[in-house]
Amino acid sequence: MAVSRIVIEHCAIATVDADDTEYADGHVVVADGLIESVGPGPAPAGLEHVVRRVDGTGHLVTPGLVNTHHHFYQWLTRGLATDHNLFDWLVALYPTWARIDQPMVRAAAEGSLAMMALGGVTTAMDHHYVHPRGAGDLSAAVIGAARDLGLRFTLARGSMDRGESDGGLPPDFAVETLDGALAATEETIDRHHDPSFAAMTQIAVAPCSPFSVSTDLMRRGAELARRRGVRLHTHGSETVEEERFCHELFGCGPTDYFAETGWLGPDVWMAHCVHLHATDIAAFARTGTGVAHCPSSNARLAAGIAPVPDLLAAGVPVGLGVDGTASNEAGDLRTELRNALLVSRLGPHREAALTARGALRLGTHGGARVLGRADAIGSLEAGKLADLVLWRLDTLAHSSIADPVAALVLGAPAPVTLSLVGGRPVVEDNHLVTVDEDAVARATRAEARRLARIAAGD
Ligand SMILES: [Zn+2]
Repeated sequence: MAVSRIVIEHCAIATVDADDTEYADGHVVVADGLIESVGPGPAPAGLEHVVRRVDGTGHLVTPGLVNTHHHFYQWLTRGLATDHNLFDWLVALYPTWARIDQPMVRAAAEGSLAMMALGGVTTAMDHHYVHPRGAGDLSAAVIGAARDLGLRFTLARGSMDRGESDGGLPPDFAVETLDGALAATEETIDRHHDPSFAAMTQIAVAPCSPFSVSTDLMRRGAELARRRGVRLHTHGSETVEEERFCHELFGCGPTDYFAETGWLGPDVWMAHCVHLHATDIAAFARTGTGVAHCPSSNARLAAGIAPVPDLLAAGVPVGLGVDGTASNEAGDLRTELRNALLVSRLGPHREAALTARGALRLGTHGGARVLGRADAIGSLEAGKLADLVLWRLDTLAHSSIADPVAALVLGAPAPVTLSLVGGRPVVEDNHLVTVDEDAVARATRAEARRLARIAAGD
């Protein structure tokens, strides 16, 4: 079969390659789902089998954004417990979350994924750790939603086995048994994990957090992941309360606890990492452990400011995440580019804090690294998968900003004229092409109301 090509030209390009190569006016050629060429000026003359030619005038092309931490199910509980800190917020919401079922999770996944895609995300992830008994196959529900929407996807199959009666935070009826959680996680790997270069679905092993998971589940989860060659994900060092909890329960801080249970390594990425000491950062750097930085959620829950400039200076891989939408109602990764930059300027680093290009790197190549996919996505380079976004920057919101990267990162969220995942369009003219947005909005509203009714005991 003849190759088919998409040509995008007359646009600014930020490749986010190792040299941060940019073109004020350049082209990208996509051939059979891969990037064939990127460069200055118009595309080479004489290309054959061009099925589509896009005039990118007034636009910036970047790699698609990569989200590295999310909880899709929380789409149904946005705007609740709005003035709580992390532990109070968890205790307030767990009883509702424990009532989720398969249709709710499917609708919540569609809502979360739709919002991600409209915001220029081409690789999404879901850390799903609430598996109430009898709720159905929730992993299949979120994977099906990602497949139908057309986004590349990592499901971090989460779990909890430390209920209230074991000193944990979640109610007992919301947790799984140790063996049940491990068996279900391995079955999810068997059924859905694709290790290939162009994989649309990958699975990670993802016990929820030290305060909702037994030490045995942490340890055996790490063993399972390494035996099966998949990545490991969890929450870590999010709040001062968590640090206190670890000292009381385990006699050490979170990073030492992770080291002891097998949770530091180049195949691990951890959400938040706000409260790290210099020795913790050194341990992350030494082991290649990655970080999912979630600035909006950290602010929403008053968790603190992650030491991202220190992490980057030490060589730690860092990506961006929206976190669950119960602590970041927007669920839009574009705003995390801006907030990562702004929040880091408010911290102790000031002048040494993130730049606009540094923020774009976190949201693209940094995310690809922490998901273990930097060979395939995260930068615009010949031979990589054609996951890219054409951002419109010639409207009122951005047209007077000369630097397109500054416009994207510091300006209002930019509309997406076109996004491609493996060369297939997911967004066109700021609308989803694969699903009906209005239908998704109606379904998520209906399921959110059903969940609220059930949780209220009606
Ligand atoms: Zn989270």
